[in-house]
Amino acid sequence: MPKKQCIIKTCLKSSLLFTIPTKDEDFFKWQQACKKYVDIKRGMYLCSFHFVEEDIVRKRLLVSEGTVIGVSEYKKPRLKSGSIPSVFEDNIGAQNKLENCLNPPTNFNHVTKF
Ligand SMILES: [Zn+2]
Repeated sequence: MPKKQCIIKTCLKSSLLFTIPTKDEDFFKWQQACKKYVDIKRGMYLCSFHFVEEDIVRKRLLVSEGTVIGVSEYKKPRLKSGSIPSVFEDNIGAQNKLENCLNPPTNFNHVTKF
């Protein structure tokens, strides 16, 4: 059996995986969103990296008789219904470039000795 991993092969680190939907309606939406980057297949996985944080549900409110009595964290976070993947390498590349601009490599060669 193949190892469980993100269908985007360059994603090696992520451990949080979401199953690509099998339902036609959802599957086609995901396929549309991903087609520029990857040809997705039902039953395979995309990692959390390709979703905005707001789409990922990590906890739920515990409600008793209309009152919130606590928060429970999901062992396995899930996606909000209707979420589609939206973060791909284009965005990742842009973000890296931005970070490099903000943190230019420091040159330590010209340290003055006293
Ligand atoms: Zn991924």
